[in-house]
Amino acid sequence: MIDLLVIADSVLTMDPARPVARAVAVIGNRVVGVYDDPAQAPAARTTLDVGPATVVPGFHDAHNHMAWYGLDLLEVDLSTPPVHDLAQVYAAVAERAAAVAQDEWVIGNGYDQNKLGGHPDRDELDRAAGGRKVWLKHTSGHMCQVSSAVLAELGIAERPVHVEGGLVQTDASGHPTGLLQEQAQNLVSALVLPYPLAALEDAIERAGRRYLAEGITSATEAGIAGGWIGKSPVELAAYQRAYDRGRLPVRVELMVAHDAMHELPAHAEDDMPLGLDLGITTGFGDDWLRIGPAKVFSDGSLIGRTAAMCCDFDDLPGERGYLQADAGWLHDRIVDLHRSGWRVAAHAIGDAAIDLVLQAYADAQEVHPRTDARHRVEHFGVSRPDQVARAAALGVIAVPQGRFVQEIGDGMIAALGAERTAWAYRQRSLLEAGMCLPGSSDRPVVQGAPLLGMHAMVNQCTESGQDFNPAEALTAHQALHAFTMGSAYASHAEAAKGSLTPGKLADLAVLSHDPTRVDADQIGDIEVEATIVDGRLAYSMEKS
Ligand SMILES: [Zn+2]
Repeated sequence: MIDLLVIADSVLTMDPARPVARAVAVIGNRVVGVYDDPAQAPAARTTLDVGPATVVPGFHDAHNHMAWYGLDLLEVDLSTPPVHDLAQVYAAVAERAAAVAQDEWVIGNGYDQNKLGGHPDRDELDRAAGGRKVWLKHTSGHMCQVSSAVLAELGIAERPVHVEGGLVQTDASGHPTGLLQEQAQNLVSALVLPYPLAALEDAIERAGRRYLAEGITSATEAGIAGGWIGKSPVELAAYQRAYDRGRLPVRVELMVAHDAMHELPAHAEDDMPLGLDLGITTGFGDDWLRIGPAKVFSDGSLIGRTAAMCCDFDDLPGERGYLQADAGWLHDRIVDLHRSGWRVAAHAIGDAAIDLVLQAYADAQEVHPRTDARHRVEHFGVSRPDQVARAAALGVIAVPQGRFVQEIGDGMIAALGAERTAWAYRQRSLLEAGMCLPGSSDRPVVQGAPLLGMHAMVNQCTESGQDFNPAEALTAHQALHAFTMGSAYASHAEAAKGSLTPGKLADLAVLSHDPTRVDADQIGDIEVEATIVDGRLAYSMEKS
């Protein structure tokens, strides 16, 4: 007797040994059998016959920001749509300001100056918010716009301060405009951080419930506990509490921001110069909650024009972005993390940043060889052909976000020009080079539903309808593989998940249609009817 039998017209297992089936048998939290004929399956306590639907392995978002997204859901939504111009930004700020006390913050997120015609104006924000503290976060997460009250509290209303790896932007007369880039965002963070664990625990559950409704069963959180990305120095405890209290809806792998790490006074023989107390490192945890890579930011954002490029931005002559720290220091930091046993996930978008990171990985392996280290380059935004070949030779995993092409691709084309757009957010050329391709969103930077990601990966078309690097378009099967096996491999978890194979975890999504059979322009319209995690039905669509 098995616990659960899932029957469907089509099961796409993503296991090359048996790619298509009609039934999946589950005992406890494991797949125990896959059958072409449901009648051959053993008797089950519970049978879930989803008829014409398609069953796939649960989706895994290999790079997302779960607590950030969960918190965002309570803030003013400035993404486009619904907000199309700066007047609408000010109206939304005014509406929230009217609902909060004079000493409370008005916090918004998701704005993109490429779509609004510019960054919000400090004086307009002061007017809209009646002098309240306003903090509007750019959709990239790499910059924010604040009001005069925030600048005043920071003591920089009249004069900027220098921030290493960041910028307090000033106007022609030298006054801060309120735009804070990269590490300069830490100035605001210092006023609002740390978030209480209870708020983070709520945010994690809120985000996770959404994920389940989108077929996601695993999520890799791309940076906790430090840097401009961290929400609290004890952020891991929010996930652990959520897990202990049954409030962690999906499996989570946590990247730890390298800023949260310090020198370790271990024995010299151990070669562990850098890390967390107790020597906790990548891989610690279980199938629900696990420590993943160390997260390092090497540069900034492409649409924010802060990515570190080898050549100038197409629309900003003389500007080629910047690194978030001294190049030599970043290099040595990556090598030390590697030595200390960490898998490293380095954010690198510009080709200059990618050069730095790949060189650090090469040096790390040469001096301190480690088998199957699977270091990652997050985004791998603009990569020259020689960089693809080098990443492949080093066994590095690139983690691009296909959905960027659709939602912010127009801004990327403006920043890069036509020629270099052919190097942007590669997918197919990574597969052709023999590299693993995970599926990820960087949510909340863009929408995170994996079917929307797959839609973009296959169609390679921007919001305004421009073709974006069509040579990199994937087949629907390749895109599905990315969000299942690809992401599992990138987490070093391909033995436990990513396909519906006997012995693996019973994580499944039930889709209204087969993404490999619908027209390419319909993939994003497919509905998730149910999601099973750990052998249990965790989400079921209400049918009207
Ligand atoms: Zn990210």
